[in-house]
Amino acid sequence: MNVLVVGGAGYIGSHMVWLLAQRGARVVTLDNLSSGHRDAVLAGQFVHGDIADRNLLDRLFRSQRFDAVMHFASCIQVGESSREPIKYYQNNVVNTLNLLNAMHAHGVGRFIFSSTAAVFGEPEYVPIDEMHRREPINPYGRTKLMIEQALADYDAAYGLKSVCLRYFNAAGAHPEGLLGERHEPETHLIPLVLQVASGRRPHVTVFGRDYDTPDGTCIRDYVHVLDLAEAHWLALLQLMDGAGSAAYNLGNGSGFSVQEVIGATQRICRREIPVRDGPRRDGDPARLVADATLAGSLLDWTPLYPDIETIIAHAWDWERRMHPVSELLRSLLEPT
Ligand code: UDP
Repeated sequence: MNVLVVGGAGYIGSHMVWLLAQRGARVVTLDNLSSGHRDAVLAGQFVHGDIADRNLLDRLFRSQRFDAVMHFASCIQVGESSREPIKYYQNNVVNTLNLLNAMHAHGVGRFIFSSTAAVFGEPEYVPIDEMHRREPINPYGRTKLMIEQALADYDAAYGLKSVCLRYFNAAGAHPEGLLGERHEPETHLIPLVLQVASGRRPHVTVFGRDYDTPDGTCIRDYVHVLDLAEAHWLALLQLMDGAGSAAYNLGNGSGFSVQEVIGATQRICRREIPVRDGPRRDGDPARLVADATLAGSLLDWTPLYPDIETIIAHAWDWERRMHPVSELLRSLLEPT
């Protein structure tokens, strides 16, 4: 199998490239390195470039035959998407359509798309299944929904088969410490809390304590990055088997509040995590929890690392591996 992984130098994409290589697939990563890291691409061929560049895509699709394309390259910050919608519509919609159009022109007929729980907007019920109405409440979610809709149209008209995988909260790191999360700037809860644990940040801010949840903080469904990669692999096998287009929600089906994540991190790291209270962040629903029954029954997806402690422990190993100096300083400063 020959797979093009767009955004293979990023957080989830790099785990995917590693997994594909483990499973014996040939992999080409295409990444513009705007947020990814060249050294995170542990296998296959690397092409430095942008999906906005149609000539590059034409050359790539002419040079070799791809069985499928996986697309991880997108802008992912909800807050930024409201402030800078041009960036989001350009990258997540226009450039993705450029990729799809090049695939169509070169007869590449299978596509696996990184979608998001943000396509659902404010949930009417939880856990959220695939039947839930899709009404995003921020530009980020709207750009992802637009591509989901385009994919349905491209299938109807051109027979392009796709699987949309709607991640809830991707977290964790490679269990052997080969890969992990390296966003600049970091905005995600678990890596931020771990940066506090390792002494790289003075405190973590809790965005709102007045939500309609048991402890007042937002509840999310954290899913291990390698479990997400595994779902892509299963989706790829399904498409290779001739299955039709589909969309699946990917999460563990259990929600953890911001406060619970901080508590679990304190226990795992055996460190006090200083916390400040801040205002709500725009566009944050109180509770996002996945019903991933469909992925279980149709993709045969069973998460290997469903518990939050393992997810945080793997991310903690990664944080310490990446920043051994702050770890050392911290241990020297700490009373024994
Ligand atoms: N959050 C927080 N403080 C932070 C970062 C995040 O309280 O410094 C909260 C955020 O409001 C949300 C949850 O943690 O309720 C998860 O946010 P994250 O950015 O990790 O993922 P998202 O849910 O936006 O995909």
